[in-house]
Amino acid sequence: MLMDIKNNGSWILRSILQIRPDAKRLTQWDSLKRSEKFRLNKAYIEFLKEIPNVVWSGLVRSNIARPRAVFLLWLACHKRLPTKDRLMKIDIFHQPNCIFCNCAESVQHLFFECNVTSVVWEGVLRSKNLRGQFLKIAVAKTIYEIGWNRNRIVYNKNYTIRNTVNVIVDNIVNRVWVFPKYRHRIVQILLS
Ligand SMILES: [Zn+2]
Repeated sequence: MLMDIKNNGSWILRSILQIRPDAKRLTQWDSLKRSEKFRLNKAYIEFLKEIPNVVWSGLVRSNIARPRAVFLLWLACHKRLPTKDRLMKIDIFHQPNCIFCNCAESVQHLFFECNVTSVVWEGVLRSKNLRGQFLKIAVAKTIYEIGWNRNRIVYNKNYTIRNTVNVIVDNIVNRVWVFPKYRHRIVQILLS
């Protein structure tokens, strides 16, 4: 018998219950069951090993954030976060409103458009240290390069995509090199 997905359960638990068909395929359940104590982090890590080789897998696999954060990122990439627009389809929620601002809750809204949560993005992206600069340039340049290549292909069928990854990495180094205070760190990173 399957446990009901209750709307007063934790977000992470609801997420796990919703992906039961995928979780059942996990081959490591036997070893997880043998441990005296169920370790949620270990389950996440085992689950992440099962990730198909899709384009964003590097973002999840090589991410050293806490496993539960990576797991939610994995769900977001799979469009499987239990936001209300999805939960309404399976009759768990009947009001679609965002708890922060009352607009309709979706992944797009919750993480990018909500007036309340966007403050968090602003705070993180306003970070002035080198890591913050890397992050901002990487996000902006990756979106720019994808858009740039897309336009070239739309207007010139014979266009061959340039080595976008190298272009982005070169651009990050060049942009940060402009600031003398960051140069020694760039050299350290390039030589490491
Ligand atoms: Zn909102």
